[in-house]
Amino acid sequence: MTASRDYAALAQRGLSLDLTRGKPSPRQLDLSNDMLRLPESYHAADGTDARNYGDLQGLPELRELFGPLLQVPPAQVVVGGNASLALMHDTVVHALLGKVPGAERRWVEEPEITFLCPVPGYDRHFTICERLGITMVAVPMGPDGPDMDVVERLVASDPKVKGMWCVPKYSNPSGVVYSDETVRRLAAMPAAAPDFRIFWDNAYAVHHLTDTPAELADLLALCAAHGNPDRALVYGSTSKVTLAGAGVSFFGSSPANVEWFLANTRKQSIGPDKLNQLRHVEFLRDADGVAAHMRRHAELIAPKFELVDRVLTKELGGLATWTSPRGGYFISLEVPHAAEVVARAKAAGIALTPAGATHPYGEDPDDRVIRIAPTYPELDELEQAILGLTVCVRLVAEERA
Ligand code: PMP
Repeated sequence: MTASRDYAALAQRGLSLDLTRGKPSPRQLDLSNDMLRLPESYHAADGTDARNYGDLQGLPELRELFGPLLQVPPAQVVVGGNASLALMHDTVVHALLGKVPGAERRWVEEPEITFLCPVPGYDRHFTICERLGITMVAVPMGPDGPDMDVVERLVASDPKVKGMWCVPKYSNPSGVVYSDETVRRLAAMPAAAPDFRIFWDNAYAVHHLTDTPAELADLLALCAAHGNPDRALVYGSTSKVTLAGAGVSFFGSSPANVEWFLANTRKQSIGPDKLNQLRHVEFLRDADGVAAHMRRHAELIAPKFELVDRVLTKELGGLATWTSPRGGYFISLEVPHAAEVVARAKAAGIALTPAGATHPYGEDPDDRVIRIAPTYPELDELEQAILGLTVCVRLVAEERA
């Protein structure tokens, strides 16, 4: 009965804590405050006046800085606004309304289209599919990435499968890094649909928590090497490098896909915010500048991940399993009756991402996964929230025993 006593005490405290979204903390945002005084010059390297219209693809110096970090040749990078999610959303809309290279028709003319969704995965990918009428098929994740036997079978046999979501490095929410063999198989596998695309959301490309960064194989190059040059659509952003609400985003792909993408976006915009692009180049400078900046983030957030791991180990050993990621923004906790645990936590003033959000249609068939986002709260609040969460896990285990 200790858990019910602990829960009663927890509920009494009237907490109001939030572990829902992977937001940088105010102290992380402060790391980029100097950027707010930039750019010093509003002229780009080639003399372009960054205050004016134009340069739809983005300034070359910014593409040269981030292309290698995202494993895309700079000439094949497009710079977007602050949200890479908008680039992903718009790519799907463009594919629905305008034929992608290699397609027989526009996706909107297909009776049904399907995307593979490795689970647990990122809820906002699933929301894009729901909004645009794309059927989602869950594929289980393992320690090396999605179950490639399942992926290869579905992609080879079903022409309705037009897309697949991947967060290949420090995945949201599991922290998994796709192995070289997984990436090779994704690049090489035969596809029944000639216009099959991999949405390679490399949101955490440079977001290491340790001194031994994970390496990721180069999907774009491997796709080209295996005769599938237009398969990979690569995305990234500086949302969790500089400012989540005022960063820059990136799309990278084959020359044909980039041309197709720009032809579509040319109808949306006369040109992006190049002052923000210059601000990013002046502030981050080069790959070493990005790495040094990311180490400062890690100094702030690695202790938060360690704290969560320590509290879970002490309070839940044997009752649950969880990930210990080497980068990214999330810890994935697996417990029986996850929905009930989340409901109990909510009633005690601890907000968690809804159970099921990590799965298409919000349905986790095993009712097990809870995504923990530890970056935003300061350490004392985080400790209270995780301790409270462990009380809820123990309570539900006790009640169901
Ligand atoms: N992709 C993944 C996997 C994410 O976790 C996030 C942020 N939670 C995003 C994309 C959103 O990126 P952006 O801010 O560039 O839209």
